[in-house]
Amino acid sequence: MSLFFEQFSKVKNKAESVVNRSADRHVRLAVTGLSGAGKTAFITGLVHQLLSSTAHKGEDNLPLWHLAREKRLLGVIREQQPDLSIPSFDYNGAMAQLTAQLPKWPESTRNISEIRLAIHFKPQSGIRGKLFDKSKLLLDIIDYPGEWLLDLPLLKLSFVDWCIEQQSRIAIFSHFSGFNSFREDLKKIDFASPMDLFVLERIAKQYQKLLIESVNEKGFYLAQPGRMLLPGNLEGSPLLTWFPILNLSKAQLESLDKNAEQNSYFQVLKQRYQAYVDEVVKPFYRDHFRHFDRQVVLVDSLSALNHGQAQFNDMTQALSGVLDSFQFGQANWLNRLFSPKIDKLLFVASQCDQITRDQQSNLLYLLNDMLSDSQQLATIKGCDVETMAISAIKVTKHGLVKHQGQEVEVVEGRTTGNELIRVFPGEVPRKLPQVDFWQKQGFHFKKFLPPMSLAGDQKPQLQHIRLDHLLQYLLGDKLD
Ligand code: GDP
Repeated sequence: MSLFFEQFSKVKNKAESVVNRSADRHVRLAVTGLSGAGKTAFITGLVHQLLSSTAHKGEDNLPLWHLAREKRLLGVIREQQPDLSIPSFDYNGAMAQLTAQLPKWPESTRNISEIRLAIHFKPQSGIRGKLFDKSKLLLDIIDYPGEWLLDLPLLKLSFVDWCIEQQSRIAIFSHFSGFNSFREDLKKIDFASPMDLFVLERIAKQYQKLLIESVNEKGFYLAQPGRMLLPGNLEGSPLLTWFPILNLSKAQLESLDKNAEQNSYFQVLKQRYQAYVDEVVKPFYRDHFRHFDRQVVLVDSLSALNHGQAQFNDMTQALSGVLDSFQFGQANWLNRLFSPKIDKLLFVASQCDQITRDQQSNLLYLLNDMLSDSQQLATIKGCDVETMAISAIKVTKHGLVKHQGQEVEVVEGRTTGNELIRVFPGEVPRKLPQVDFWQKQGFHFKKFLPPMSLAGDQKPQLQHIRLDHLLQYLLGDKLD
């Protein structure tokens, strides 16, 4: 090699490593949403489209993604994730479920997990385009339960304030089978007396059951502490063995706070509450949240509509709680504590293949209405907020049928009873439904299973709706 080329190559390598180290070469994309929102399916679908775009260069399956459309995508490969202590997102397991002999949806998100992809591409222009004929963007996708964000207020609330706040949930809890025995047991306790561990553990279990019943069976969304729903390795630990005192007034609680002995029920509950805040809630924001660059929040409004007015309102309130975590403008306390740096926040109405094409824009309007109902949206600063309606893994087909002389849109798919059906699933309201609407009619949007055509397919090509549009929004500026 001549001296000139040797020097040039050294300069180029050096420049490449500098550029590679710059923030633009690496994106940490976090994906969240409340239980059942579609996080696992979303990440599986997204990773699948990216990995399979290596073969097609993305033109066929991701036409709205500029990188693919401009034929600058060179390929996408999976790389070792950077955080060795975070579980890996089980992409292969998810694909195996989708292509099993009886295709099924993969297991839902239960904990935080991560997967890293390297997107190789041709830079478009500018200095990078002149210096390099190839570039690489490292994309880390992090999956975590949205319920963890609902614990944010605990960082600001004392145990007494939290108990008072939780008293507003009594109206909802009172409809649940386990509530009466929980309430009776609370009444029997003198919170100033020395704590009996056996009793404390029994009541904490009852409270956890109430939260699980409210979310998993009755379709509500708000639950604090969030980890009681998916405890993972915290199951049974003192960090998750406590409950709110729902039967005492603020004055009574404040008096206990001042006067009760250290070994009393009150003080033990207060210590465990604080330990949960310090050892579970804070570390999530400090170790994970503050390193995210971009955030996707998935919302399954169709299931919330199916469940009814109380649950739908609960989801709207939960979304407002989720938005709280993104209030980190300069002067905000969250900023002072953790300095988060998310610059794009995307709310996604998921699973839109369950409804007919003419209803998909309504789903988006509805999501916008749910979000604008929350005061927090207007005050988010320093972060671009966008909404979309997508399906990460499209499992239905759209069609037209003749009904009373008119053509009507339908969706066709495999139902949970393994039956192939063609239905008009119903209209999606464009705005938050009013009280009289709920009284007149309910919603019956169907869930569908992945199609039998995927069974045993060694090289499946999953379908999607608008994942390419989503990729353009989330990564377009990083791939110029
Ligand atoms: P998670 O709890 O947020 O991880 O939610 P999952 O990814 O497990 O999804 C919950 C359920 O939503 C799945 O079992 C499917 O029934 C449904 N689902 C998720 N994504 C899609 C989609 O793109 N299309 C359809 N039709 N259903 C979906």
